Amino acid sequence: MSTETCHIVALAGGVGGAKLADGLYHHCGERLTIIGNVADDLELWGLRICPDLDTVMYTLAGVANPTTGWGVKDDTFAMLDMLAAYGESPWFKLGDKDTATHILRSHWLRQGMRLTEITQRLTGALGIEATLLPVTDDDVRTIVHTDEGVLDFQTYFVARRCEPVLQSIMFRGIERATLTPEVKSALKEADIVIICPSNPFVSIDPILAVENLRARLWAQAVPIVAVSPIIGGEAVKGPAAKMFRELEQEPSALAVAHHYAGLVSHFVLDERDADQRDAIEALGMHVIVTDTLMQTREDRQRLAQQILERMEYV
Ligand code: GDP
Repeated sequence: MSTETCHIVALAGGVGGAKLADGLYHHCGERLTIIGNVADDLELWGLRICPDLDTVMYTLAGVANPTTGWGVKDDTFAMLDMLAAYGESPWFKLGDKDTATHILRSHWLRQGMRLTEITQRLTGALGIEATLLPVTDDDVRTIVHTDEGVLDFQTYFVARRCEPVLQSIMFRGIERATLTPEVKSALKEADIVIICPSNPFVSIDPILAVENLRARLWAQAVPIVAVSPIIGGEAVKGPAAKMFRELEQEPSALAVAHHYAGLVSHFVLDERDADQRDAIEALGMHVIVTDTLMQTREDRQRLAQQILERMEYV
């Protein structure tokens, strides 16, 4: 099958997910659907902020800030300065251009539009031909239990810089949340599902937990490829390795494979971790060994191409 006809569905969180999604977008264009995480969304000053959806959107539109990994490139922060002048202490950074996204999203939500429709409007306006779908239109929020008590995700992640020791993670609202019709239909059409190298605990699990998507995917018997976000025992960026240490086991690609065992048919292992191949194969996965570090746009496209070629979709 070629990328001309196949449907690729990618599950993605923020920075790591967006990089591979961008590589896949280069090869698949409108054949790509990205299902994004909404459990790290937050409300600030009456605005609904969707950090993961926005990171994917800005990355695919080519306007993401390459240094921070979040926000819009060349953005300014005059609004935050004014908020500070009013005595607010803005712990969550919002650039001026970025804020336009949140203003419009919040406005449309108040008018009764679904987050799915809003995301399609925003991505369409930025010229993105792939489809970006929030996994649900319902409110789901990651809550972490830590040695410093119960914290909402962004307080833990941004304000407390992931310093508290994790004890457990829960997704508030998950039992009531439903998959959108758009997500269900994309999954029905999918020839392959790719789990991007996103944080398994706080980016991918809250996607897989909606209406027990994990079990649905498993039952669908479609090839599911996961790319390890852990290289050489460390996360490329962010707290994934620390989370493995505190919640499951020593961080490694094998630990990621264990996390997805029973779901994933193919596992993309970084060449630096090639010695873990046999142990991962023993979990019943086909292993693809390659360089998974995406430092440049070309890296993203190369990794995406290697996955698609290996799965015979190029
Ligand atoms: P967040 O929501 O912004 O933290 O983003 P994600 O959950 O999508 O991505 C975070 C994960 O991406 C981290 O665990 C990183 O190790 C991983 N990551 C970031 N860049 C790369 C990369 O170039 N290659 C791989 N394999 N993983 C990456």
